[in-house]
Amino acid sequence: MGIPGSGLAKGLAVTLRTMTRKSHTAQYPDAQPELPPRTRGVIGLFEENCTVCMLCARECPDWCIYIDSHKETVPPAAPGGRERSRNVLDRFAIDFALCMYCGICIEVCPFDALFWSPEFEYAEEDIRDLTHERDKLREWMWTVPAPPALDPRAEEPKEFAAARKAADKLAAAEAAQAAEAAQAEAERGSAGTDGNENGTENGTENGSENGNGAAS
Ligand code: SF4
Ligand code: SF4
Repeated sequence: MGIPGSGLAKGLAVTLRTMTRKSHTAQYPDAQPELPPRTRGVIGLFEENCTVCMLCARECPDWCIYIDSHKETVPPAAPGGRERSRNVLDRFAIDFALCMYCGICIEVCPFDALFWSPEFEYAEEDIRDLTHERDKLREWMWTVPAPPALDPRAEEPKEFAAARKAADKLAAAEAAQAAEAAQAEAERGSAGTDGNENGTENGTENGSENGNGAAS
């Protein structure tokens, strides 16, 4: 049996010892924590790289990745070639209420479509809002920190080249769409002007003829 009051003395000793030390408590949310760049905060989706292979959804231990897709036939690249079919993503969602942040989906993705972002402020009042759909997952993508710089003489990683190719393709498709829309707009405009000109010419001609008729 211990000496009466020894517990109190020990407690006071601990208080005295620690009260002079600097506090390590972070005053969040007034002070933002300094997190390492590879913190497992939330998962971002780089949709252009996703081939809908379903590997991430199959390997996820929590079954919290939901993917829907359909098949589309792509015309042959060259005349006489064969038609190909490709998967088109309809839905990609992650339920962060179930996710245990193991990172398996990111590890197994063969096409570098999933990345960790250090963002962590996405608490919700309704648990259903913790299912982030593809648009939200894409937004997280822009918060993913850049990888460490390469050695100046290093070869460009194939992932960079693939990502650039996908982005260029998307930009070219958007530019073509914009050009088509501008051309259609211009054609509509010129058709309207022609109509007005015709109308003016006809009106003038008819008017002159009528005037001549009246004179004779
Ligand atoms: S981090 Fe783990 S639990 Fe979360 S979605 Fe990926 S595989 Fe599933
Ligand atoms: S593993 Fe990667 S490429 Fe395959 S469906 Fe998942 S995110 Fe898309």
